[in-house]
Amino acid sequence: MLNNQGRPTTPAAANESAPRPHKTFTGNRGLQQEEALLFETGRPDVSGVDIDEPQPFISRLGALERATPLDLPGFSEPEAVRHYVRLSQKNYSIDAGLYPLGSCTMKHNPRLNEKTARLPGFADIHPLQPQSTIQGALELIGELERWLIELTGMHSVAMSPKAGAHGEACGMMAIKAAIEARGEGKTRNVVIVPDSAHGTNPATAALIGYSVRAVPAREDGTVSAQAVRAALGPDVAAIMLTNPNTCGLFEKEIVEIAKAVHDAGGYFYCDGANFNAIMGKVRPGDLGIDAMHINLHKTFSTPHGGGGPGAGPVVMSRALSPFVPLPVFSTSASSSAIIENAVELAGSAQHPFGRMTAFHGQMGMYVRALTYMLSHGADGLKQAAEDAVLNANYVRACLADVMSLPFGNRPCMHEALFDDKWLKDTGVTTLDFAKAMIDEGYHPMTMYFPLVVHGAMLIEPTESESLASLDLFIMTLRDLAFSAKRGETERFTQAPQLAPRQRLDETLAARKPVLRWTKPEAISEAAE
Ligand SMILES: *Cc1c(COP(=O)(O)O)cnc(C)c1O
Repeated sequence: MLNNQGRPTTPAAANESAPRPHKTFTGNRGLQQEEALLFETGRPDVSGVDIDEPQPFISRLGALERATPLDLPGFSEPEAVRHYVRLSQKNYSIDAGLYPLGSCTMKHNPRLNEKTARLPGFADIHPLQPQSTIQGALELIGELERWLIELTGMHSVAMSPKAGAHGEACGMMAIKAAIEARGEGKTRNVVIVPDSAHGTNPATAALIGYSVRAVPAREDGTVSAQAVRAALGPDVAAIMLTNPNTCGLFEKEIVEIAKAVHDAGGYFYCDGANFNAIMGKVRPGDLGIDAMHINLHKTFSTPHGGGGPGAGPVVMSRALSPFVPLPVFSTSASSSAIIENAVELAGSAQHPFGRMTAFHGQMGMYVRALTYMLSHGADGLKQAAEDAVLNANYVRACLADVMSLPFGNRPCMHEALFDDKWLKDTGVTTLDFAKAMIDEGYHPMTMYFPLVVHGAMLIEPTESESLASLDLFIMTLRDLAFSAKRGETERFTQAPQLAPRQRLDETLAARKPVLRWTKPEAISEAAE
């Protein structure tokens, strides 16, 4: 075993001799505090702030005035602080440890990004402020647009989408607008999506009103141009393909696929969530892609997870550029402007399909992403992609003898995909294995995705892990793998045992979610 510094320790430091933790009186485990809900501990008559009694006033709410107290829980300041600090300590995050969630690119968020995002000229501006007072912010957006266009070799970019899936919707709406402009809106109503696609792809196509035609992946995990050609026809509006794909493999026939789709009169949407593997190495524009979203929160290190703000700008080809949505940012040498209304574009070649957001997108994410780009430089971004691929291959190579690889022990891109063949007859499933990782202090990898691989385990270490960190992770997974093969089934089926909560009934939670807190009956002291 290795300790956190990558130095060997004795295996006893693992959990061999550790007794199962007993139930504590408080429910706390060591310094990990058990935390009740605010509604369970708060009292309506308590407050952390002093507010003067309101002056007498005449209500103008008529009969709509509230008759019963609101009953919101109140807290003193230290109580409120403790509640949220305790909750934050239950969070696993990239700041706490390695986060190998495949397809999610959980990389370190450099603190420099946070510093620039908090500069008042970026952080304290309002979307309705006069444009003359936010010239610096607009210039920054223009600069970020230039980097995105340069890195992707595309023609234009729609900045406002707020996540990858939102970007997919934006790109597909631009494709729909282009097809309608050609007068083919009624006849082209199918979108081709490979079986291995991220679930958001078919969902987006369906949301925009298309029916989905699936193409299977080949034995080797990639999509063949031949299969795409067989699925093409005059009814096809577009293909949605991910590259590198969700099996962590580069789609080698992508240029041929793009040509086939274009020859059949369709457009090529590429899911760019995995751009981290190829930035600075390959320009999607050179591959024949018409639209691709970029997850700034994955590739360009802006924080994500927990539904926090993301940003999914969509780069577009020359063919789709006339349809980019509002707002359009225009930058000249002397000034920058936001064009908010289609009227302002009348007479130009631009025919925006509408708009994706009320305002202009995620300013804080723009600042962080551009800071990341400028601090890395073009060479640094390329190296980040190379290191991400190197790290994933290191993990793959170091685990290949104990776990099984669905497409053979061949090089991968930024993530290594294992299946569950190696767990056969152990009584341990992919889910059990992932839960046992929690006891070892690791967030599990992506499980059961992509769907084309049985019991999939998708590991994406990213470039921001050190060799020592990767070694400890690999040693931990090897230890677990040997343990499963030795028949130590309980370590897995009972896991997690050391987390604040043990194994949950996920089916019940999904089928019968409890979405509303109701006040429990008052507990009376038990009589003798
Ligand atoms: C993350 C991801 C998405 C969706 O991006 P969000 O920003 O989470 O909406 C789409 N496709 C792939 C392959 C992804 O990994």
